[in-house]
Amino acid sequence: MRTVYLNGKYLPENEANVSVFDRGFLFADGVYEVTSVLGGKILDFDGHAVRLERSLNELGMRNPIEKADLLAVHRELVRANDISDGMIYLQITRGNPGDRDFAYPSDDTEPTIVLFTQSKPGLADSPAAKTGIKIISIEDQRWGRRDIKTVQLLYPSMGKMMAKGAGCDDAWMVEDGHVTEGTSNNAYIVKDDKIITRHLGNEILHGITRKAVLAFAREAQMKVEERAFTLEEAKNADEAFITSASTFVMPVVEIDGEAVGTGTPGTVAARLREIYLTESRKAAI
Ligand code: PMP
Repeated sequence: MRTVYLNGKYLPENEANVSVFDRGFLFADGVYEVTSVLGGKILDFDGHAVRLERSLNELGMRNPIEKADLLAVHRELVRANDISDGMIYLQITRGNPGDRDFAYPSDDTEPTIVLFTQSKPGLADSPAAKTGIKIISIEDQRWGRRDIKTVQLLYPSMGKMMAKGAGCDDAWMVEDGHVTEGTSNNAYIVKDDKIITRHLGNEILHGITRKAVLAFAREAQMKVEERAFTLEEAKNADEAFITSASTFVMPVVEIDGEAVGTGTPGTVAARLREIYLTESRKAAI
């Protein structure tokens, strides 16, 4: 049984309970982060802590924990659950005001904070990284503040199910003819050696992996263009791939049944995955 963290306490998972009045449960009034662990060390803790702070600020939600304490909780959960490779899930909600009311409660309502681990031995050696994944395109029907990492993930869940139903692995969402991002990852194409990914804005989540990968790409003198691209461009690209904290860099080999490039993982994605994993392991804490 896992040890989880709830509101200052380390508890067995079956003893960690949250109120039925919690606003995370009733209104999806909560934010989250997923941080990867490789070799027992945490990847890009700072990036996730900074984005968490931003999400909380955008929603006017109080942060119940200091950064140093948050790192200590991450480390203690890795230790207590003997995690070598896997993820740490963190969620903060606006807490339990004792009743259901659309208006935010006053500041004396304590936020709820939960962290738990997910063990994924061999996380960085996923077979999909060698074969690539197949995706479908779907209309982006999410709300307009996708830059805030909220727990309202029903549409992305529906998207995953639509992909599964079509015999695929994931879905890229399209708005006004342009790809926004994947259900739980950022989307990229490569054309004539140029890496193209949507610019930052309210339309996409500002991926921590995206930021790191683009920095590594630029350091390696690769050309990067941050702009919206169409589904047609993606289907005619030389390569496509996704990034996220738990998939790192993952090649996409098929979009809506059409092969991307040669229909096999591309060299740019493979190289970025290699650089990202090597550098992230080095910097892990
Ligand atoms: N976009 C969306 C919609 C996501 O849910 C995620 C992962 N949570 C990402 C992008 C990738 O972000 P990160 O690299 O920080 O995991």
